[in-house]
Amino acid sequence: MLDKVVIANRGEIALRILRACKELGIKTVAVHSTVDKNLKHVLLADESICIGPASATESYLNIPRIISAAEVTDAAAIHPGYGFLAENADFAEQVENSGFIFVGPTPDVIRIMGDKVSAIEAMKKTGVPCVPGSGGPLDDDEEKNKKIARRIGYPVIIKAAGGGGGRGMRVVREEKDLMKSISATQSEARAAFGNPVVYMEKFLENPRHIEIQVLADGQGNAIHLGERDCSMQRRHQKVVEEAPAPGITAEMRKNIGERCARACVEIGYRGAGTFEFLYENGEFYFIEMNTRIQVEHPVTEMVTGIDLVKEQLRIAAGRPLSISQEDIIIRGHAIECRINAEDPKTFMPSPGTISRFHPPGGMGVRWDSHVYTEYRVPPNYDSMIGKLITYGENRDVAIARMRNALSELIIEGIKTNVPLQKDIMADENFQHGGTNIHYLEKKLGMS
Ligand code: ADP
Repeated sequence: MLDKVVIANRGEIALRILRACKELGIKTVAVHSTVDKNLKHVLLADESICIGPASATESYLNIPRIISAAEVTDAAAIHPGYGFLAENADFAEQVENSGFIFVGPTPDVIRIMGDKVSAIEAMKKTGVPCVPGSGGPLDDDEEKNKKIARRIGYPVIIKAAGGGGGRGMRVVREEKDLMKSISATQSEARAAFGNPVVYMEKFLENPRHIEIQVLADGQGNAIHLGERDCSMQRRHQKVVEEAPAPGITAEMRKNIGERCARACVEIGYRGAGTFEFLYENGEFYFIEMNTRIQVEHPVTEMVTGIDLVKEQLRIAAGRPLSISQEDIIIRGHAIECRINAEDPKTFMPSPGTISRFHPPGGMGVRWDSHVYTEYRVPPNYDSMIGKLITYGENRDVAIARMRNALSELIIEGIKTNVPLQKDIMADENFQHGGTNIHYLEKKLGMS
């Protein structure tokens, strides 16, 4: 096993990684910014190193400082978590070139999957179904673009090849708006992602977001761990996730899951990964692959009993997959509510000191969070402060437990989106299951 791991992240995922390392007997190094010196995982790690000021570009995104931290502590590997440098191929490459193990896929696979145009191309080759689209980057040729859009059929969506976090997308409903939408998305993409390349896809009107979790060892073995439904979104950002997805049969799961696992073997994938799909009228359409652990991974852990972060660490240590497809049995139902430090109505971030905190508990309740009483939520990072996950033998039980857990959760001193999550759990259509990606925004009166 690995001897010592640098956790190149913060917040709940850093704590999640620390817990997995401890269970495996791996020593831990927390790297943190000045404002994060009292983070729970920093206090619990074997060693900790301050790598810079609050600004993420100078700390959590500062590659030389993170690699130096691995050097001075004589660590074996670096776990990037999600966000920050997790999908930065240059980072993975520099980690490897400096003699450390990157907990994730090889830099070239991250690079291919990090560009949505090349990811779609790679997936098409392996037979994974994709959204009808331009099949490549768009240029400034008006006639050519109009022809592509007519072939695909309006509405279409213009998307940034380097996009992420739900940004860099524009829906076009009529030909007259096509060219200006392309150039607007190009400039936005250049500014936000340093890459002006955009492509075109059919805009699916009422899809659900369903994704497949995979594990691969990079030694020819790959399995899938079923799907998650992440359709409850606001501004293309997930708010609630669940596993399994309502209405997806064992046969559908097997078909799409095995295709993803096969694709992993063909592209030489290593580690945990997620194939994201839009699902409409019984068909799956690939939109992107995430080459890292995801925020919503716990719901898969709850229904499969597999610890995905421990598997990531085992794979990084060079071990072949210890589980086979037959070992994966989906049992019961799990739901995750993201808990954000934000105003539940305006969605404005609400940093500050938590004056009183009390976590929920009971059977089937999991609370993945770094917060505690007197913890100060800094204004510098993502507003997610925890994830509340409930499990039950079926979806109704998981929902009932989530409603209990939300009512028990006490976070005072800052605003949180707990009231919104309570509303969603009480919503009849959510309770029925299978709502699409626009449902939450419609419910909130946003569209
Ligand atoms: P990001 O990398 O920013 O998360 P994705 O490509 O994963 O971008 O898309 C995020 C979300 O945007 C999807 O979950 C879906 O809600 C919406 N979306 C993306 N592509 C399409 C499409 N072709 N049709 C309809 N909605 C889409």
